[in-house]
Amino acid sequence: MDSRGKGLDREYVNAGQDHEHIDSFFSRSLGPEDPFPKLDQDTTTPVCIIGGGLAGLTTALGLAERGIRNPVVLEANRIGWGASGRNGGFVSLGYSLGPFGLIEKVGEEQAKELYQLTASAMKLIRERIRGVEEEICNTAEGILRISWFDEEREVREYVEKMERIFDDKLEFWPREKIREHYLTDRYYDAYLKPRGLLTHCLKFTCHMGKLAAGRGASIYEKSPVLGVKKTNGGWHVRTRHGSVLADQVVYCCSGYIRGLQRRLSNATLPVATYVLLTEPLGDRMQEAVRLPIGATDTRTSSNYYWPLPDGRLLWGGRVSMFHPSQEKLKQIMMKDLLHVYPQLKRIRAEVAWGGTMGYSKHKMPQIGKLEDGLWYCQGFGGHGMCSTTAGGEVVSAAIAEGDEAYRLFEPFGLDYAGKPFGPMVAQGAYWLFQTQDKIREFRKNR
Ligand SMILES: Cc1cc2nc3c(=O)[nH]c(=O)nc-3n(C[C@H](O)[C@H](O)[C@H](O)COP(=O)(O)OP(=O)(O)OC[C@H]3O[C@@H](n4cnc5c(N)ncnc54)[C@H](O)[C@@H]3O)c2cc1C
Repeated sequence: MDSRGKGLDREYVNAGQDHEHIDSFFSRSLGPEDPFPKLDQDTTTPVCIIGGGLAGLTTALGLAERGIRNPVVLEANRIGWGASGRNGGFVSLGYSLGPFGLIEKVGEEQAKELYQLTASAMKLIRERIRGVEEEICNTAEGILRISWFDEEREVREYVEKMERIFDDKLEFWPREKIREHYLTDRYYDAYLKPRGLLTHCLKFTCHMGKLAAGRGASIYEKSPVLGVKKTNGGWHVRTRHGSVLADQVVYCCSGYIRGLQRRLSNATLPVATYVLLTEPLGDRMQEAVRLPIGATDTRTSSNYYWPLPDGRLLWGGRVSMFHPSQEKLKQIMMKDLLHVYPQLKRIRAEVAWGGTMGYSKHKMPQIGKLEDGLWYCQGFGGHGMCSTTAGGEVVSAAIAEGDEAYRLFEPFGLDYAGKPFGPMVAQGAYWLFQTQDKIREFRKNR
């Protein structure tokens, strides 16, 4: 069961994996945070969690809240170093697989239950950030999903069905209203998710870490796990300078899992995606974006963005298997921005960065057990800010209380992600979708 061992150690050393946060808007504005220690001893715990992103931290927090003493989190870098601390900050219900895709896969009843898990997660998130909202969240709430194509009827139907089937009250916005607030002729009708939050994702993730530590979890940073081995009645989790003897282990490594656990790694498509921050736009923001909420569009290769209170625009989008340089990224993302808002020509980019999402083939999180005492909670794709809390809840309830809700995810197994070709296939599919978007756009503009 000891997976990779020396190979993984070499990989971490070669990659210089003693990583601080990457350069991003979020790391630049994080403020002073006390680091957690490295693991440099042998210790024991009922549950060891590998990976200190939102999936790992919310699992640890859920366990601590349910009375499990001293769950241990081992993070290779800093907590929130992965996707959780460098994303677009949109927190909303659901999964990467849309609600009607869910119905197709598991039927209406189970789809409703799965969706409801994220509604409960959203409530829990609001409780957990109470008192620090101002620090972590944008003051304006709400996320608009704006149609790139002329499909009013479809948008209205979607809104109606979301309320009727999923009890999710969305708001239809006609194109005239959209065009008052978003000065581009690319957009049509939209719906608003009024309960959507916009967050400083790194502060959000660090806050979950602090809550877990405050409840008795032990968090170790810069402690990459090099192997997990079965022992008599438990698991031996080895890091470079220490080890953990655990009754149970939860893998939460997402797109950064590399070769740590072969089955999980084979089921994970590591997909890169990017974010850009502009310089403060001052009055020029009003020439383009006039609402302080989040916006995204309906293309397969959609963009998502929100104006920060200080007048800078946070602009995200694209998926890829490549990691371009920061300068190249700035150009790529700025080109996308100007495609929507050409009037913003000549604005400057301040910083751009990328991150890796862990996707599964079926676009749903992978949550379950490899064998007794060996759990996984991963694959949240591009929609993990809220659903990781749902994942952390079902896994911690299963471990602490024998709760069976995690089984709702059983239809979404560890499908082989096609390695080593999976990422190339995903890139090919993305290019194909992008081309389809362009053809639709071309037809629309004729
Ligand atoms: C640029 C970008 C924009 C996004 N925008 C949004 C958005 O606006 N809204 C939204 O809902 N979702 C968004 N997402 C997706 C969301 O960020 C993820 O779904 C979510 O953060 C996944 O959390 P996680 O804990 O599973 O993974 P991660 O946050 O990636 O955490 C995995 C952690 O495991 C650690 N790890 C890996 N291997 C080891 C090891 N051997 N030992 C110890 N630790 C290890 C890594 O260092 C990493 O910190 C975005 C993602 C990206 C990259």
